Amino acid sequence: MTSQRTAFVEPRREDARFTQKRRYQMLIDGKSVEAEGGETITRESPAYADLVVSEIPRATKGDAERAILAARRAFDTGPWPRMSGSERSRILARIGEAIYEHREELAVIECLEVGKTIRQARGEMGASAEFWRYAAGHAQGLTGETHNSLGDNAIGLMLREPVGVVGIITPWNFPLLIGSERVPWALGAGCTVVVKPSEFTSGSTIRMAELARDCGLPDGVFNVITGYGDPVGQLLAEHPATDFLSFTGSFRVGQIVGGLAASNIKRVGLELGGKGPQIIFADSDLEAASDAVARSIFGVGGQACIAGSRLIVEAPARDEMLERLVKIADKVVIGDPLDENVHVGSLIHRPHLEKVESYVNAGRKAGARLVTGGERLSNVGNYYAPTIFDAVDTDMSIARDEIFGPVLATFAFETPEQAVALANDTQYGLSAGIWSRDITKAMRTIRQVRAGRTWINSAGGGAPEMGIGGFKQSGIGREMGHYGFDEYSTFKNVFMGLNPVNTPWVE
Ligand code: NAD
Repeated sequence: MTSQRTAFVEPRREDARFTQKRRYQMLIDGKSVEAEGGETITRESPAYADLVVSEIPRATKGDAERAILAARRAFDTGPWPRMSGSERSRILARIGEAIYEHREELAVIECLEVGKTIRQARGEMGASAEFWRYAAGHAQGLTGETHNSLGDNAIGLMLREPVGVVGIITPWNFPLLIGSERVPWALGAGCTVVVKPSEFTSGSTIRMAELARDCGLPDGVFNVITGYGDPVGQLLAEHPATDFLSFTGSFRVGQIVGGLAASNIKRVGLELGGKGPQIIFADSDLEAASDAVARSIFGVGGQACIAGSRLIVEAPARDEMLERLVKIADKVVIGDPLDENVHVGSLIHRPHLEKVESYVNAGRKAGARLVTGGERLSNVGNYYAPTIFDAVDTDMSIARDEIFGPVLATFAFETPEQAVALANDTQYGLSAGIWSRDITKAMRTIRQVRAGRTWINSAGGGAPEMGIGGFKQSGIGREMGHYGFDEYSTFKNVFMGLNPVNTPWVE
């Protein structure tokens, strides 16, 4: 099994799509504003040798406070929570259409800021529009419960109400997609929001909020503040005027913001990291399985929370699976993310590339066998080759830590019980995949895997109808589907006496 070198397309800095730096403003109370004091943060594209592609305001605590109070006012006295579901639904549907119409512009923004390929980014923009459309449709029919069996003298209601002001902190990898997994559900439930995107990739979230404003969303309902996690993200977590904090990002920061939110007893949703297992039984369609495994760990350079970074393969299929994966890794085209033929773009920034490298070096040192990859692909940008390790022990750092890079760790198993034990041997529980032609075996196995988002014979498929979220230290709460509306709702118990004098306390 020898590896040919991965095809690399040199990034071309003269592409017309980024001759102009994009200059963004925040959106607070329906107005586009700079940070107080006027400070900004520039973003250099990680794919094009650090060419500056955008500039965002560097918000202060004061800016964040203004955004939170605007959302508070819009919730307490504004029209949005008081509208009928059908009125809200109509506006959300318009926003979904606007995102779809602007998908090319949004895709280019993410391609340049994140370093992901234009093909990948286009797909994400289409999916994001779909999420808004789904939430729009279902926002009209949200219900509580009636209890009509409490006897003749009483009736009970469980009234659904919006939870209030929601702070939403998002990571750099899928800004518009992750925003669209949360914002339309929160708005659909009648909440108002303040979103803090990553300081590396804020452009598409700002454009999404501008499009929402242009679609008739009332002022103060969808605010965006840009800047660093500390102080502005942190203020969202600790401010008494936010009722709910939705955080998507690393386990480390999740612990911090979860603690801050707990200090004033606000509800919290956490979507954190993962170390996804991919269990491959020997009776699988190995061609389809290897394609799915490769896409899951090498697509977007492994920088996805649901990346399947651990290959857990039944011993008789191990050699064939590795051979197939090496062939795919050799064919993956890496490089210029604006090139239509490229499969994988750049990693997010130089320190992250160095982190990935240090994990690969640690794996080598610990005695794992490097099957392919393990190298940078260019001095321009931050490109790293698809990398596969075999003979990995469960206590190695490449087996345990979320590397967030294109690095696959391989383990072999003899029995389904061993496969499940290996899959569950992690602090995380975000995602898992299983491949087998024996559906009964696959179903029995998946039921024992402790993860919130799982696949049988599928390459990471999903739908807005289906809830997502983590088990174990991958998180708390569920987004999307009807679960997403419950996440951003609270329920009021109304017990109504129908014959109050029937049973007097004092005769
Ligand atoms: P990160 O935790 O470094 O940052 C996430 C967000 O938190 C950013 O907006 C950042 O500015 C903000 N932040 C940083 N410090 C903060 C603080 N002290 N207080 C408040 N906010 C703060 O994560 P990242 O590097 O942007 O993203 C990668 C991580 O996100 C990975 O661990 C990945 O698994 C995870 N992720 C999870 C999901 C999911 O749905 N479970 C999805 C995508 C990414």
